[in-house]
Amino acid sequence: MASYDLVCDECGHDFEVFRQGFLKDEDRVCPDCGSSEVRQKFSSFLSSIGGSSSGGCAPSGGSPFG
Ligand SMILES: [Zn+2]
Repeated sequence: MASYDLVCDECGHDFEVFRQGFLKDEDRVCPDCGSSEVRQKFSSFLSSIGGSSSGGCAPSGGSPFG
């Protein structure tokens, strides 16, 4: 028995499917919204750790405690 982590592209609902073999088309359906736009998540993915000095959310000038 293998478990597959799936995520729905429509509503973003992530769920798990237990299947002995490979996934079938009927398994790749979101139980939340019923969409078939479901893709398999990868257990290990690269996450960008560390901050770049770009893309800040600071306005130029103006302080909330001014
Ligand atoms: Zn969905």
